[in-house]
Amino acid sequence: MKETHKETVKRLKGIAVSPGVVIGKARLVDRSRVKILYQYLVDERQVSREADRFKEAISAAREQIIAVKNKMPEQLRKHSFILDTHTMILDDSMFCNATIQTILSEKINAEWALKKSVQNIEKLFAQIDDRYIKERIVDVEYVAERVLRNLAGKEQESLSEINERVIIVAHELSPADTSSINIGKVMGFITDVGGRTSHAAIMAQSLKIPAVVGLETVTHHVQEGTLLIVDGYAGEVIIAPDDEQIILFQEKQLQRERYESSIIRLSHLPAETVEGHRVAVRANIELLEEVVAAKDHGAEGIGLYRTEYHYLRSANLPAEEELFEDYKQVAEIISPSPVTIRTLDLGGDRISSEIALTKEANPALGLRAIRFCLKEVGLFKSQLRAILRASAFGRVQLMFPMISGVQELLDSKAILEEVMNDLDREGHEYDRHIRVGVMVEVPSAVAVADLLARHVDFFSIGTNDLVQYALAIDRVNEHVAYMYQPFHPAILRMIRQVVEAGNKAGIDVALCGEMAGDPLCTFILVGLGIEELSLNPLGIPIIKKIIRTLSLEESRKDLEEILDLDTATKVRDMIKAKMRPLLKDLDQQGLITSYNNQEKRALRHG
Ligand code: PEP
Ligand code: MG
Repeated sequence: MKETHKETVKRLKGIAVSPGVVIGKARLVDRSRVKILYQYLVDERQVSREADRFKEAISAAREQIIAVKNKMPEQLRKHSFILDTHTMILDDSMFCNATIQTILSEKINAEWALKKSVQNIEKLFAQIDDRYIKERIVDVEYVAERVLRNLAGKEQESLSEINERVIIVAHELSPADTSSINIGKVMGFITDVGGRTSHAAIMAQSLKIPAVVGLETVTHHVQEGTLLIVDGYAGEVIIAPDDEQIILFQEKQLQRERYESSIIRLSHLPAETVEGHRVAVRANIELLEEVVAAKDHGAEGIGLYRTEYHYLRSANLPAEEELFEDYKQVAEIISPSPVTIRTLDLGGDRISSEIALTKEANPALGLRAIRFCLKEVGLFKSQLRAILRASAFGRVQLMFPMISGVQELLDSKAILEEVMNDLDREGHEYDRHIRVGVMVEVPSAVAVADLLARHVDFFSIGTNDLVQYALAIDRVNEHVAYMYQPFHPAILRMIRQVVEAGNKAGIDVALCGEMAGDPLCTFILVGLGIEELSLNPLGIPIIKKIIRTLSLEESRKDLEEILDLDTATKVRDMIKAKMRPLLKDLDQQGLITSYNNQEKRALRHG
């Protein structure tokens, strides 16, 4: 993130994770790490005492976490599982038993032994490619930090003690920190580290307080009491603003609030073009906790439920029962609208549990998603059972990711059939006619879309991966990010081909990549005949509003012109020119920058 002023730093740019604008005084919260000053050998006769000292620190940590959980504000109750995860980490054998073993066998002090355990766990996480999952190592570090504090006998200021209206400024905040925030007082928070998917970010959204993370150096520039403006839409922080800036921001804030509330008020209306052509607008979610926000923003169902989280939040594979409960709740909350549950989209090297790790040179082209599931049939069946059982409680649809050809689809469906037969035998209820679809995100699937269409009820185009594979651009490689072009004529033609194949076979065609949430893309996608857009819940009101101002007929005509252009730049320029009048007011409110960043978001997600 770049500082935009050189001498006196006034503005810092970070990652916007929770919308809203606030002006208030800074409250610096010291979350510096406990330094392990002493690494020493323990006398043979003292080792069991040292191990006991560690066990006591673990017990104290458990009590502290439970105490935080018991006092959690109502709005955060749904996130309490994060604190449960922290207690599970305390019990994890790589964390707890390994440390005790190291104390006993190497005869070293508890702090040093714990550090070794954490380093071993970090090494495992380092092999993971997915940034979201990688970020989860912070949970292990938070827990370790707590245990170290207990070993050192250091108390930490609890955020529940903050009793003034302030903006919290910290290097980072743990879930326990955010859980203890005094919501009546804390106006917002900003941190040096963190990403869009960090727990602190997700909790800020639930608490509806503006937050900007990933500011890198904000704790160096802010002092206790410094006046701050936090812009949770643009991901910007202004330090010590002058009067003029404050007035400007207050006006902007008012304008934006009015504008947003007018959009949100209308977000429950259907998304219909001026001719009355209806497009379903649904939400992409990764956690059960997001369903309510999706509904509040006008989602007409969940178009993509990414199911990786449960497989990554603990060292063990999730039990069928745990998955079932989760999927069932999503289905019930969103009912009568549908939820499309995507089966696991993980690479073989992304699981640090009971499954053997395979280091691949090219994970994006390796044992990922459906390929991985077809190899780990036991794991796959357990998830399919959970999805099917949940289908008895709402409108559940099932979708396979990364399908590259018909054989893979038939193999997946054969396993699904076996699971259905098992459930029949066991007398479980489920929807025998559950709608089954595939994500179209591999170019070979586009080429054979007509053949795939014979075996499924719907397609959902995953442009994040489709762009990656069609243009040979690694979506997580910043060096080629400039070539990540959703407007490339090849991509537009591929989408058209899939829609045509779907229409011919009489099946639905949805699109759930980041393109679906980009206001610039809406008229092309509508013109192309996409029937469902699934996107980040926060973007839904805007996309619906845009659809309501579009004419299907004109979008189709414009599309003809656009499909004739030969470069992505020409496509983008023409789209911008056509959309300018429509997007002007959104742009003025800074809303385009919030949602129109698909390259970056695809990178972050990837
Ligand atoms: C996609 O590839 O477009 C998609 C929606 O899936 P993911 O981003 O989870 O790979
Ligand atoms: Mg994908």
